[in-house]
Amino acid sequence: MSPSRMTRSGKPPSVGVASHVGKVRAHNEDSARAEGSLFVVADGMGGHAAGEVASTIATETLIELSGRKDLGVDDIVGQVSVANRRILDSVAEHPGQYGMGTTLTGVAVVLVDGTPHWAVFNIGDSRVYRCVDGTLTQVTVDHSEVQELVDRGYLTAEQAARHPARNIITRSLGREPMSEVDTWVFPPAPGERLVICSDGLSNELGPEEIEAVVEEADDAQQAAEALVRRAVDAGGRDNVTAIVIVMPDDVEAP
Ligand code: MN
Repeated sequence: MSPSRMTRSGKPPSVGVASHVGKVRAHNEDSARAEGSLFVVADGMGGHAAGEVASTIATETLIELSGRKDLGVDDIVGQVSVANRRILDSVAEHPGQYGMGTTLTGVAVVLVDGTPHWAVFNIGDSRVYRCVDGTLTQVTVDHSEVQELVDRGYLTAEQAARHPARNIITRSLGREPMSEVDTWVFPPAPGERLVICSDGLSNELGPEEIEAVVEEADDAQQAAEALVRRAVDAGGRDNVTAIVIVMPDDVEAP
């Protein structure tokens, strides 16, 4: 189901996708897809010819759900496990891919009691942010060692953002048994903006900078490109990817 079903006028949201290899890496192992009711970002690991294979399997497998009219959270979780299985099967067929994996983070439109809601899902340290009435909040929680230290009170969020071990993730796709998928379901808000990004963006730009770009944005493609350009200009130490969704003002909040 398209997010246009969330509005009174049936007006579709503005959607933008941008990705850049950055200034340091030789290849872009991130993958992003936005289609119908599905918006997904995956950040592959395992080196060239493996990381990008894993991230592409993940996004293409999830996007298969994009045309479904009656999507539920269980369908998304089930499809994530299909993606996990396909990555493991690919490794079994191609031993050179041993060790490949990927994060997977996204947003889908699901029906809750017959009304369209957002469902956010996450494995790993890619992120979903939401900006409502000009205020940005992070929806997802990173599956990383530094996030666990934050949760236990050993690190502040600011210390975690600069920590040298911040790229060590505790959940990913390509593992057996499969990592647990976190999900959040919430109603849409008028004029809200959603940002789905890889850590190459969130490691370079703080939440204030992301908020400043998206709160003013009417055109989601321009906003996605502006976010990615700023992250590359700020260092571009990793691949940088962003999907931006700008919802119309006539969203019907249930
Ligand atoms: Mn990354």
